[in-house]
Amino acid sequence: MMIKTEKVLHLKSCRGKKVRVVREHYLRERVPCYSSLCQAGCENGGKVLPAELTHYVVPDVGVVVDYQEILELRELQGIIFTQTACQAVQHSRRRQYNRLRNLLKDPRHDCVLFANEFQEYSYCPREKGEKQEKWHTRCVYSAAVWYHNHLAGMMDIVMITEDQDAVAHYSCLNSGVYVISVQDYLRDFWTVLTVAHELYSSISQVLQQKESSGSQREFTEHLPTEVLEAGIKSGRYIKGTLNVNKHHKEAYIATDGLSNKNTDLNWGVLVYGGKNRNRAVHGDTVAVELLPKSEWRGKLTALVEGQEEDQSGKENESRPMPTGRVVGILQRNWRDYVVTFPPSDGTYSQSRNSQRILAVPWDRRIPKIRISTQQADSLQDHRVVVRIDSWESTSLYPNGHSVRVLGRAGELETEVQTILLENCIHVPPFSDAQLREMPINSPENPWKMDPAQVAKRRDLRESHLVFSIDPLGCEDVDDTLSVRSLDGGKLLELGVHIADVTHFVKEGSLTDLEAHSRATTYYLADRRYDMLPAVLSADLCSLLGGVDRYAMSVLWELDAHSLAVNKVWYGRTIIRSSYQLHYELAQALLHGEQAEVQELSNLRSEEKDAKLHELTQALEMLTHVARHLRAQRDKGGALELEGVEVRAQLDEEKNITALVPRQPLEVHETVAECMIYANHWVARKIQETFPHQALLRRHPPPRREFFTQLVESAEARGFTIDVRTNKTLAESLDKAVDPQDPLVNRMLRMMATVAMSQALYFSTGQESQDQYYHYGLALDRYTHFTSPIRRYADIVVHRLLTAAIDLDQGLGNVKALASNKELEELAQHINNKNRAAQQAQKLSTTLFQCLYFKERDPQTDQHCVADAVIYSIRNNGMLVFVPEYGVKGPVYLKNRDDQVVCAREDGSCEWLSGSIQQYADHITTTSSRGTSTFRLFHHITVRISVHSPLFHSDSLNLEIINIRPHLTAEPRQPCSQGRSQLVQEVMRLAEEAHKQAQEKAGRQPKQSKEEKQFGQSKTPNLYSLMEEVRELALLDLETVTRVCATTA
Ligand SMILES: [Zn+2]
Repeated sequence: MMIKTEKVLHLKSCRGKKVRVVREHYLRERVPCYSSLCQAGCENGGKVLPAELTHYVVPDVGVVVDYQEILELRELQGIIFTQTACQAVQHSRRRQYNRLRNLLKDPRHDCVLFANEFQEYSYCPREKGEKQEKWHTRCVYSAAVWYHNHLAGMMDIVMITEDQDAVAHYSCLNSGVYVISVQDYLRDFWTVLTVAHELYSSISQVLQQKESSGSQREFTEHLPTEVLEAGIKSGRYIKGTLNVNKHHKEAYIATDGLSNKNTDLNWGVLVYGGKNRNRAVHGDTVAVELLPKSEWRGKLTALVEGQEEDQSGKENESRPMPTGRVVGILQRNWRDYVVTFPPSDGTYSQSRNSQRILAVPWDRRIPKIRISTQQADSLQDHRVVVRIDSWESTSLYPNGHSVRVLGRAGELETEVQTILLENCIHVPPFSDAQLREMPINSPENPWKMDPAQVAKRRDLRESHLVFSIDPLGCEDVDDTLSVRSLDGGKLLELGVHIADVTHFVKEGSLTDLEAHSRATTYYLADRRYDMLPAVLSADLCSLLGGVDRYAMSVLWELDAHSLAVNKVWYGRTIIRSSYQLHYELAQALLHGEQAEVQELSNLRSEEKDAKLHELTQALEMLTHVARHLRAQRDKGGALELEGVEVRAQLDEEKNITALVPRQPLEVHETVAECMIYANHWVARKIQETFPHQALLRRHPPPRREFFTQLVESAEARGFTIDVRTNKTLAESLDKAVDPQDPLVNRMLRMMATVAMSQALYFSTGQESQDQYYHYGLALDRYTHFTSPIRRYADIVVHRLLTAAIDLDQGLGNVKALASNKELEELAQHINNKNRAAQQAQKLSTTLFQCLYFKERDPQTDQHCVADAVIYSIRNNGMLVFVPEYGVKGPVYLKNRDDQVVCAREDGSCEWLSGSIQQYADHITTTSSRGTSTFRLFHHITVRISVHSPLFHSDSLNLEIINIRPHLTAEPRQPCSQGRSQLVQEVMRLAEEAHKQAQEKAGRQPKQSKEEKQFGQSKTPNLYSLMEEVRELALLDLETVTRVCATTA
């Protein structure tokens, strides 16, 4: 039954005119309440509010508009948003409305929408002369009363409002329906939810401050959107994303899609200085207007210390490039920022009882943010999360409010949380609702396989010897291997068995949504944040030894001699891994060394020998197959690149005791090769079955110009690097070996890595097939299938593979799959999260490196003096690499007082006034002492110290102290065998340093829990390491900035 009424709306048109609209309005008796307490038989599809709460909360319109951020906190439960409030947001704030819609859709948020204005008994027509705000409040109150009655008084309803009259008027009208202010609500019901209280106080500060800011205009007004869009169409303005250079006053506009005919713009548009940037913030989508050519400038190329100083002397600029100014903003892309409250120096401007502070963002690309707060004193030197609210043309700085206090700057926890937040990594503990979805596996209630699954799956427990090889102490084993001889030795069967995560993580479940939004497990230097709850990642999905597990398997039948593929089988299986090996153990078995295999320790010796023989044979067979696969890819031009990864060793108090470079073994490559093979064949299968909607991973060839540095540096040393194809690059890199110094080859590989583009996920419908190629691995199709515990892409690929298998068997239908467009959006999301994960990992490694050196006195501690290799020449210094610590950074040869570094007779350096001259492969300084020359690839001695700016992250400072190599106590062995020996050499030195440190401290080395966890988290399995190294290992911040600035 429906009742028709009329509803009068007063809307504002986009030109600001008021319009009166009369709408027919239909009232219904039945409008779903979305409560599990419902006794009236509402059709409550989708999300419902739980019954086991103490109350439901109904926010008034003003509360939703002003305090939505508080309502977005996941801790808050049982929120009913009224249609009245939602419409008010929709009409006034478009972006906020989108957030509200997402909130209502997200099943992890315990909130629902009640269509109160369609409900016959809760709808209130507006009374004559009634003010809109009063009417809205009456509607919301009426909705609250309706709920209380509808749920037969079984649930208390709390309406929250900032209207004190409403509190006074309504609070005593109905028992069971309470009307209180937001502040009282938080105080009474969420006493310990500090974040809500902090948010409340900072938002209410902003609301109080809103009225008057200055009236003097600091910036040009932005043009309206229609004008910008028309201007972009006509070519007058250029649309792009603003990228601020962290060291300079420069910003670049990365133009979209290079749709411009003007090829000058391919490299982007330079925006110089704050006035021209016109309130655009790093990441915003803006429209720019080009300045006349006479005003174009070049970008700065010198190494610049810190951010404050302006070294924009003409000699440091490259040739002029298109330069423009921001005329309008198409989209703000503001996120949460970490800022530091400055130490008080009495400059705070006092206004009423709060202070306005200029807080300095941790990210140097973000402008200072003005914040009103009552806590200015207690927050000195603290890192605080803030949001920008607005940036008026009358204000030099944007206005914002604080959200959450992270802690005192410089403390480990604060700094780690800062890194996470700055990379938009949100990893709260898994909620109870998510954990309730998980299967149970406890001693009292052990998990068992489902007989229905056992019947459906291929059982490999008796037929296959399955084992895993991972880093020592690994808990999340997502891949296992098998290999066996078939048909009297004519055939060989290779098997890769991957954790069947999608059996446990159903599409659309809370766990799935959480995994989707995380997209990956995050590995920091001292901890990790899992993508999946531990009961899956460390237990039921982990292919541990001696227990039954579900798996997704790929089995290849190969010709035993040619190793050509006869047949491939994909499907769901049951396995029981016989051995959980670690890399060193597997390598020892392969070398025929004496090794203790734990799984065999209780057996009699003959039986043990037989089993050991069987296992060793399998490992040998595997190595044989892997070498063949690798050789095949090498023929195609696969690259072996060098990335420097150092892991920190921690003691019980999380103090770093040593920095240890990762060590590669052949068995690493064997496992990696098998995983690459599985990923490749799964990519083929899903791409062939779903040509337009499969998730693959491509690695575009590098842009030739990025190789310039590599080619020129190699030339300086007499090597030719041929960058035409990956094959020629790989071959010429192999030849570029200096027998005197293996580091040369390593540095060249490092430069090649830096020049590489990022590998990316994509949907097959999005690219033409010739774009599928994976340059680094030299494969025509590639995807990620082998780590579903820690990568969401693999979960998607498992679902696609399952769909493909179902289709082969005449089951299932393609329509249920994500469309090309949806898949491409997902791919972009995962790509972004991966970038964030790498960035966070790199920053946390730097953080720990800084911690390592922070405790030491650079003037006296020998650890602070190290050998470094020059790998790039700049006009006021050079970039060097410190192999012992895996540190890269600038070394300045000229300072602000025009002094230059000069070498004495004995090689030691001093600062004297003089001049500097840059050449292609060397740089010289000239002073009264004569000329000193610094050549590419030469070794020098540097002193490492820590630079600790209060507002930003710590960084390492490298200072040249001797123009000659650093001589260690023991003479260096001339190592000529390439990478592995060098790494061992560095390892040995690091170990020695470690031992010395231990002896000094007078205690034995011990493995702390953190270290074990760390050891695992840093190298979850070797495959990921290989991937990192091969595909993009050395994520160089400079390169990223450059890529961002020059490519769309
Ligand atoms: Zn109901």
